[in-house]
Amino acid sequence: MYNDLEILNNLENNILNKDEIAFLLKSKNSDIIFKRADEIRKKYLGEEVHLRGIIEFSNYCKRQCLYCGIQGQNSKIKRYRMSVNEIIETAKTSLPFNYKTVVLQSGEDNYYTDDMICEIVREIKKMGFVITLSIGEKTYEQYERYKNAGAERYLLKHETSDTQLYNTLNPNMSFQKRIECQKNLKKLGYEVGSGIMIGLPTQTIESIANDIIFFKKMDYDMIGISPFIPHPDTILGESDIPALELIKKVVAITRIVTKDTNLPVTTAFSTLNNARGREEMLQVGANVIMPNITPVKYKMKYELYPDKACLTEVAFQCKGCLEARIKSIGRCVSTNYGFRNKER
Ligand code: SAM
Repeated sequence: MYNDLEILNNLENNILNKDEIAFLLKSKNSDIIFKRADEIRKKYLGEEVHLRGIIEFSNYCKRQCLYCGIQGQNSKIKRYRMSVNEIIETAKTSLPFNYKTVVLQSGEDNYYTDDMICEIVREIKKMGFVITLSIGEKTYEQYERYKNAGAERYLLKHETSDTQLYNTLNPNMSFQKRIECQKNLKKLGYEVGSGIMIGLPTQTIESIANDIIFFKKMDYDMIGISPFIPHPDTILGESDIPALELIKKVVAITRIVTKDTNLPVTTAFSTLNNARGREEMLQVGANVIMPNITPVKYKMKYELYPDKACLTEVAFQCKGCLEARIKSIGRCVSTNYGFRNKER
């Protein structure tokens, strides 16, 4: 018979067993899991919360991911693209907020040439930001060009470690290719972020336990754990929304297992619990928040799922709100770049 405390000790000592993790994910003793995760976060990362401003610069996408509201075949969505100048100017207007990182995210949109991406990266880097790109699957050479232009982090979630589920949810894509891209990014010296969604159709607790073991094996620098929120204009629109408690447990166990990895409060989690979601996630292991600095007229259209949190708030409102939330739980906003476990 399994015992929660014994399993927690095993995880802390890097003894990872799928059945034990699955037992914890089903356990009713959430509080002891959350407490352990919070202690480990404090031990390895202290009280700092890193704020990373995200610009969602295009919702055009050539992919057909079944879960995603901006997938290429959704004809109901209004598409937009920000120009190179608009993207650079948006980063510039966020300078007073003192966010140390700008995350540039889009659908997989071939409109932007490598020259355009490199120009955006170079110009924003000159402002003193660290740049995270999240623009999908590219070749090794393309990643290399962006790196040489100054990008230092890349976010490419694999969504699930269940190969068959991944291949079903992402037509014409392959799990192997996704992981190969992550490995290429690592080889090039990027900090690599990945992540999963919880609540995907047919996903089991055992599969999520495997996801957590996979995180450890891949040694990601950042891991985003997010609920799958069905979008009504997709084929999965009728799916159920996962329990928030389960998502918190996955974050907490991921913190215990990975120790010093950066774990963001995902926007999808905040969307499902706008009142207290950020504070709750920060108290079960998370240490990063990504305020949305996309101009309001565009951010409403980056509809991965419906009713996304804070859609009508302009950037400076987000900044004030987040700082107050962080202080209310005794934490502080970081003034450093938030590289994983080390400052450069
Ligand atoms: N194209 C890039 C890529 O594939 O990595 C970045 C953009 S993609 C829209 C960003 C993330 O949105 C995906 O990795 C996925 O986890 C998340 N996402 C898409 N649809 C979602 C949904 N219905 N619920 C929650 N998250 C979703």
